[in-house]
Amino acid sequence: MGRLKLKCCKCGNVMETLPSSSQDIIIDEESGEMLYWNGKKSGYRTADCLVCEKCQEKGC
Ligand SMILES: [Zn+2]
Repeated sequence: MGRLKLKCCKCGNVMETLPSSSQDIIIDEESGEMLYWNGKKSGYRTADCLVCEKCQEKGC
């Protein structure tokens, strides 16, 4: 397991750690992919389409 390298899909900001709101992780049963909670608006998302805290706050 390498180090977590997440990129915000809105602003491109590299997140060293998960946004505090995205600590909730589930495994998608169909694809086996990890899904991260990304706020009420976005719901669960895969690592490559996560949105950083700043963009979440903006709600765009
Ligand atoms: Zn962002």
